[in-house]
Amino acid sequence: YVAFLGVPAPGAGGHVAGIKTTAKSDGDDYVISGGKMWITNGTQADWICLLCNTGEGPVHRNKSLICVPMKTKGVTIARKLDKLGMRSSDTAQIYFDEVRVPKRNRIGEEGKGFTYQMVQFQEERLWGAAACLKAHEKTIQNTIEYTRGRKAFGKPLLDNQVIHFRLAELQTEVELLRSLVYRAAEALVAGEDVTQLATMAKLKAGRLGREIPDACLQFWGGMGFMNETLVSRSYRDSRLTAIGGGADEVMLGILCKMNGTLPGKA
Ligand SMILES: Cc1cc2nc3c(=O)[nH]c(=O)nc-3n(C[C@H](O)[C@H](O)[C@H](O)COP(=O)(O)OP(=O)(O)OC[C@H]3O[C@@H](n4cnc5c(N)ncnc54)[C@H](O)[C@@H]3O)c2cc1C
Repeated sequence: YVAFLGVPAPGAGGHVAGIKTTAKSDGDDYVISGGKMWITNGTQADWICLLCNTGEGPVHRNKSLICVPMKTKGVTIARKLDKLGMRSSDTAQIYFDEVRVPKRNRIGEEGKGFTYQMVQFQEERLWGAAACLKAHEKTIQNTIEYTRGRKAFGKPLLDNQVIHFRLAELQTEVELLRSLVYRAAEALVAGEDVTQLATMAKLKAGRLGREIPDACLQFWGGMGFMNETLVSRSYRDSRLTAIGGGADEVMLGILCKMNGTLPGKA
């Protein structure tokens, strides 16, 4: 089965508490109306785990997670989105028009959806950071091989100190991220709250997702700009890490809130 997670709505975006999709109670069913944007696997999924408003109360306590089979009447895949990167994965915009699902499809308690989603985000963000490690390692390794083989001005490109030093520095960054990810994963497995470490790992992964492919691509010269090279794909695909699963700025907001440095509401 292919499943996907539906959090963001057109207009609400990274502001999870502000989503507008509603699930109205009707006997033993919910009747769901609204829309979701940027849904990975959206065109081929069997069901969606949907975050929607099931009540009127405060925005952090009025949401629930509901599993909706995609074949249910009223579910429309509005369009497959055309993306800069991650082109081997489909992303869709989905609408829900009076979609009726039984209440037993709800995950956990009604009104706890926001809390469950925040807990899920810690694993998703940690996974996001972990998934980058091998990709970056490979990008750096490929760049070492390419620049060793390519000669310019009578010597391999790699022999320029600016290149081999920079690649060593990037390797160091990857290992630092790996250590943080391993530490956070260990804490997660031990049942600890890893919000801070997972957020830091996701932030750092987002930063490196921009830095490493960009730095490496430069050393490939014109070849780096060609679709046939892996480094150009890495440049496009890695850009998502700083946005998906919560943008870097949202990560910084969480960290500042935990640090007590976020200005209070006036
Ligand atoms: C290819 C792709 C696949 C995705 N797949 C899924 C999926 O399967 N399921 C799912 O639920 N979501 C998915 N998403 C959504 C993703 O999580 C959101 O795009 C992300 O959380 C950012 O929200 P937004 O795009 O609405 O940006 P916005 O909220 O519109 O923010 C735009 C930019 O403003 C800045 N910004 C935002 N908030 C702040 C702030 N508080 N302070 C300072 N600056 C800020 C950031 O730079 C941010 O990038 C996917 C997105 C993409 C692009």
